[in-house]
Amino acid sequence: MDRGERESNEEKKRKHSDNDDGREHSVKAKTSSSLEEKRDIIQEPLFDLNSSPPPEPPSEPVDPPPPPPSPVTQQPVDPPPPPPPAKSRRRRNPTQGPGEGKSEFIAPPFPWATDRRATIHSLNYLSNNDIHTIMGNVQCKRCDEKFTLEFNVNEKFYEVMGFIMEKKDEMHDRAPNVWMNPTLQNCNLCGQQNCVKPIIIPKNKKAINWLFLLLGQWIGLCSIDELKYFCKHNKNHRTGAKDRVLYSTYIALCKQLFPDAPFD
Ligand SMILES: [Zn+2]
Repeated sequence: MDRGERESNEEKKRKHSDNDDGREHSVKAKTSSSLEEKRDIIQEPLFDLNSSPPPEPPSEPVDPPPPPPSPVTQQPVDPPPPPPPAKSRRRRNPTQGPGEGKSEFIAPPFPWATDRRATIHSLNYLSNNDIHTIMGNVQCKRCDEKFTLEFNVNEKFYEVMGFIMEKKDEMHDRAPNVWMNPTLQNCNLCGQQNCVKPIIIPKNKKAINWLFLLLGQWIGLCSIDELKYFCKHNKNHRTGAKDRVLYSTYIALCKQLFPDAPFD
């Protein structure tokens, strides 16, 4: 009985010890797994590398020299959190893209305008597409009435070209006074003179009716910002006084309309 009891006790102790060991192992395993999930993730690839025969030879020779660094190398690998910054960069880029971009292509605001900002079609294009008359919105400063005016393209353009060819040598790259302070049309509604002006919406530069303003020789009614907008999108980095920017805008528009214009 005593031996049996002793044995049984010893067996129980062993069992307990075994159980304890097993518990301890299990606890350790749990703690290790719970505490070091990240390490496990890192270690897994290492085991995989060891298990995989082909990659081992090359990887092992390289690894052996930095065995201690291996944990270090693992840590740098751990910081996979860098992805968040990567995401933020990706987010920033798209936002910057549209901001900077404002793609050069737009919906043509008029049949005589192209899908590029501040660009009109040539006379040849207009003729080939049966666009002989263009129009624009105007408003009388006296009676405040709004209406549309029509221009015959060829007729009005040759007026502009004739004026430029006659006065160009006197301009010295500066818009003359008649361009800086344009003469307005008379109002057929109220009978007042020099009172009908084109409607230019400052906040909508891409919809500016450049051909209408050119043919009426009213570009001088644009603000300096609107003129610089035109020059910017025509790769004309003209800066300075309004008369210089205005002059280059006239010349550039005439070249768009008539590429063979004998300018410069
Ligand atoms: Zn009027």
